[in-house]
Amino acid sequence: MIYPWHQIVWQQLNEVRQSGCLPHALLFSGQDACGHFALVETLAQALLCTAPDDNGFACGRCRSCQVQAAAAHPDFLVVQLADDKQVISVDQIRELTRFLELSCSYSPHRIALLPHAGEMNMNAANSLLKSLEEPAANTHILMFTTHPANLLPTILSRCQHFRLLLPRKADSMRWLEQQNPIQSPEKLLKLAYYRPLAALEQDNGAKLAEQQLFAEHLLAAIEGRSGLAELSAQWEKHSRQILLDWQLRYLHEISRQQANIEKGEPSDIITRLQAVLPAKHVWTLYDQLLDLKRLAAHPLNARLFVENMLALWVSLAN
Ligand SMILES: [Zn+2]
Repeated sequence: MIYPWHQIVWQQLNEVRQSGCLPHALLFSGQDACGHFALVETLAQALLCTAPDDNGFACGRCRSCQVQAAAAHPDFLVVQLADDKQVISVDQIRELTRFLELSCSYSPHRIALLPHAGEMNMNAANSLLKSLEEPAANTHILMFTTHPANLLPTILSRCQHFRLLLPRKADSMRWLEQQNPIQSPEKLLKLAYYRPLAALEQDNGAKLAEQQLFAEHLLAAIEGRSGLAELSAQWEKHSRQILLDWQLRYLHEISRQQANIEKGEPSDIITRLQAVLPAKHVWTLYDQLLDLKRLAAHPLNARLFVENMLALWVSLAN
């Protein structure tokens, strides 16, 4: 999968590929949280595929794609940073060199992927240089780094370097809007220094906090600590679909707890809701909320809708 702002560079890559002129070593660089690495991974999948589509994407069906989906492709190697290490070691690069010398099993190419190409120590970098000087046939090394200046000039000169730019603001805005954020895309992008994936992450954090607040309000309504009218006024502007989805999820989780399907400890909210809602009413309430969900798109009075929704819990709770 690539992000919309990578369409043009993807087309360029695809044309080079179809003309059979894709270089042995490709370096991609750019800021993090812009989805750039997804582009590199998509290219790796496409190069492994035996029947890519007209746009150059992996087919997802051939033997090679299936093996790749199972994360067990013999023609594919990812050189990651070891858990406790800050740099890629020379042993890892030697393994990469040996890997590239083997013949292909399922795919037309053997592909090595270095997601942290800027984090090689000097020995590792020198070892990689040898591999770049004498590339094995039908192999590609795909590298990504947020800090291309960390790479040796001799390595840089042997790679085709694609500098991936920060996505244009209009493209990021359009994409963010499609993710249905609860905050304004403009504000989110600004907070995330115009990196769209970081902006979405900011919003997810806020979403979680908002869901927590709603659960607290729901409990306050059930326990009679807050009035329904007051709470409805507070939530009437919120998406009804989202509010209902949250509640359906609570009930689903409660039912799984009751049936002992859920392994872990329930969250604090689930425990508290479970304590006030008799087990025999869980599915009744679920059905009633599901009925409301069918009405959610109708132009009903928003405040009344939320009030009725909360009243369902109050009427069935202890
Ligand atoms: Zn395929």
